[in-house]
Amino acid sequence: MTDLRVATRTGGETTLDANAVEGLRSSLRGRLLPPLDPAYEEARKVNNGMHDRRPALIVQAAGVADVLAVVRFAGAHDLLLAVRGGGHGVAGFGTTEGGVVLDLGRMRGVRVDPGSRTVRAEGGCTWGDLDHATNAFGLATTGGIVSTTGIGGLTLGGGMGYLARRCGLTCDNLLSADVVTADGRFVTCDADRDSDLFWAIRGGGGNFGVVTCFELRLHDVDGIVGGPTFYRIDEEVLRRYRDFILDAPEELGAIFAFVKAPPLPFLPPDWHGKPAAAVIACWSGEAGRAETALSPLGDLGDVVGSHVGSMPYSAINRLFDPLLPPGLRQYWKGSFVDELGDEAIEAHVEPGSKVPTIESGTHFFPLDGACQRVAPDATAFAYRDVDFATVIAAAWHERSDDASIVRWVRDYDEALRPFSQPAGYVNFLAEEDRDRVPVSYGDNYRRLVHVKSRYDPRNLFRINHNIPPA
Ligand code: FAD
Repeated sequence: MTDLRVATRTGGETTLDANAVEGLRSSLRGRLLPPLDPAYEEARKVNNGMHDRRPALIVQAAGVADVLAVVRFAGAHDLLLAVRGGGHGVAGFGTTEGGVVLDLGRMRGVRVDPGSRTVRAEGGCTWGDLDHATNAFGLATTGGIVSTTGIGGLTLGGGMGYLARRCGLTCDNLLSADVVTADGRFVTCDADRDSDLFWAIRGGGGNFGVVTCFELRLHDVDGIVGGPTFYRIDEEVLRRYRDFILDAPEELGAIFAFVKAPPLPFLPPDWHGKPAAAVIACWSGEAGRAETALSPLGDLGDVVGSHVGSMPYSAINRLFDPLLPPGLRQYWKGSFVDELGDEAIEAHVEPGSKVPTIESGTHFFPLDGACQRVAPDATAFAYRDVDFATVIAAAWHERSDDASIVRWVRDYDEALRPFSQPAGYVNFLAEEDRDRVPVSYGDNYRRLVHVKSRYDPRNLFRINHNIPPA
């Protein structure tokens, strides 16, 4: 091991001598990977291929002790630190140029307690890990709709998915969390212990510490009936979807999307690659009521093809995994929508018909039902009166397409500005949307700054949609 040049928290560089790095290595059970290590090239990759960054050091933590060691080391040497959960953050906050990456991807233990209907999951789990474990007990909680996404970033930012209308956001189901704070302490926070911290991590992202374990409430979800239905695009289909979903029983999760029809066997071949609308439905209520709940899907528009049936909840969250392999290039813009008015729908149809690739789409996540029954100040996630969170999510393979596809997202986002909130779900905001962070927390922002000042006064955890301390 030789001396290492490492980026510092304040934008400079420092030299770590070989002894200091060896000292850190010897305190770990996990792996410490400097750039010359054969495993480094693979380990530095995050899901979004746009972020081709070279950290000075990567630590793949094996447990809480390693997390404590890295946070203390980074704090003592004033190093720039990125914390990686599932590595799916489109904004690229799971890595850093020249700093230290603390990768939790080996901390993926899950323990379900069927008696109390709770699950404890380590900070590096994916939704695939968690859904698989809870599904065996006929239980689930709100999680992401792609199984390779990390529970870490998703839960800390809020967390939306098929069960949100029935069970609330993922963060609404968080019962406690084990957190390593910036001063290198280990705390378990919940409604009674370090309750300010517990409030802040339910929506405030990775600003407040490294969560090594999440304890989440589970719900009875013994199989679902659902799947995608594709339609010819027109204004009516989105209008009808809006009216339908906001009136539907809360056991129905249904996400609308403008897409390019993928080459799926149940879609006519001449539709493959053509612009289409899609509704991906997930009925998690009584099986006997599924048909009534789902039958309006056939009347939302001109149906091109449909594949709706019974499956485990864990399976619907894997449906789109094959479309989204690691390394795709991605660029997203998101907003909250109070009410999806007819003019807004008109503004969507033209750019929504020009989705650039089959991996891309504009998605509408309904946030009514249980999400709206939580008070805006009960958790850091402030937007409890909006009907939808939308995201224009572009994903593509070739670097040569970067400029034109990023332009499509930005132009589309610009066209929607008159109809959407300046605020957006932080997990859907682009890296450069930093100026939208305060408004995205609304009236909760002041309290978040206060909690940040208490738990991370030097802003060690800054590689995120940052809430700087006062
Ligand atoms: P990372 O890049 O590892 O982390 C993202 C941020 O969270 C970073 O700032 C990181 O420091 C912090 N972080 C992660 N884990 C921890 C931890 N344990 N402790 C402290 N900080 C941590 N969102 C939804 O709500 N619903 C969806 O259905 C959904 N689907 C998605 C599908 C895809 C394909 C992708 C790419 C994203 C999706 N998202 C969805 C957005 C998702 O919520 C964010 O990308 C989220 O940040 C991913 O978390 P991660 O742990 O994988 O990411």
